[in-house]
Amino acid sequence: MPRLAYVDGRVVPLADARVSVEDRGYQFADAVYEVGAVFAGRLFDWPQHLARLTRNLSALNIAMPMAAAALDLQARRLIALNRAREALLYIQVSRGVGRRDHAVTPMRPVLVMTVRPFDFAGRVALQAKGIAVTGVSDQRWGRCDIKTVGLLPNVLAKAAAKAGGAAEAWLVDAHETVAEGGSTNAWIVAGGRLITHPLSARILPGVMRATTLRLAAEHQLAIEERPFTLAEARCADEAFVTSTTNPVVAVVTLDGQAIAGGIPGPVTRRLGQAMWGEIERQTGYRP
Ligand code: PLP
Repeated sequence: MPRLAYVDGRVVPLADARVSVEDRGYQFADAVYEVGAVFAGRLFDWPQHLARLTRNLSALNIAMPMAAAALDLQARRLIALNRAREALLYIQVSRGVGRRDHAVTPMRPVLVMTVRPFDFAGRVALQAKGIAVTGVSDQRWGRCDIKTVGLLPNVLAKAAAKAGGAAEAWLVDAHETVAEGGSTNAWIVAGGRLITHPLSARILPGVMRATTLRLAAEHQLAIEERPFTLAEARCADEAFVTSTTNPVVAVVTLDGQAIAGGIPGPVTRRLGQAMWGEIERQTGYRP
C-alpha cells in the first residue's frame, strides 16, 4: 500500500507531509479530528463521522476547510490512491496558521488526512479474548463531547493503564462513576440491561456507541443510558468497550478482577456478531 497523505490541498508522500510550526493545532491543540474505518476499501458509518466533524468545527467556530461533499470526495480519493483495503482514515482540521497568539482571529483552516493499514481481522481475535481495563481519574476538560486533538489526559490515562498491564483506562470522577474509556465508550450489562453513560459534555458521542445502541434496540435488548460506577462494573454480568477501532470488545478484567468469569459474555458476543454483520452489510467486508 503506498503511503500518501493529503496536506492542505496537496497529496504528498506521507514521509514528506508537513504542517507549519505555527499551525494552531501544533501550538494550542486548536484542532479537531476524526478517525474513520475502511473495510474492503469502503468507509463504515461515514456520514456519521462527517456530521460529527462538521458539528465539532462549528462548536469551536473553526471554518469547514471545504464543503462536506468536497471533503467526502478528497477522503475517498485518498483511500483509493493509497489502495487501502482495511485501514483507518485520519482527518484533522486545525483553526489555521498564524503568529502565536492566544487570541482567535479569522483564519483559513488546515486540513490534513492520512490513511494507514489496520488489522481488523486481529480485532475479531481480540473480541473473542477480551481486554483488561483499569480505572483512572478523569483529568480532562469540560467539553469531552468535542473531538479535539488535545488528548494529553487520555494519553496519560492509557499509559497508566498499560503500565498496570491493562489495554484501556476507564475514566472516573471523584464518585468513581465511569465516563468512558481513554479512546473508547464504556458499557456494562447488569440485570439483563445494557448500561452506558448518557450523551453529555463528559463523553465523546462515539459513532460506534450510536450504532451499538441501534443494533441493541433491533435485538430487543433493554437499554439504560445512565452513569455507572466502578463498583457496579466489578459486579456486572458483562462489560465491553466500543470504538471505531474496537467494534464491541469485551472487558474481561477490571482493576485486575475478573468480570463474568474472565470471558466475553453472551450479550457482548451477540452485539459483536451484530456489529460485524452491520460492517458486512455496509461494506461487504467479512473478517
Ligand atoms: N471516547 C473517546 C474518548 C474516544 O477517543 C473515542 C474514539 O477515538 C471514542 C469514545 C469512540 O468513538 P468512535 O466510536 O466514534 O470511534
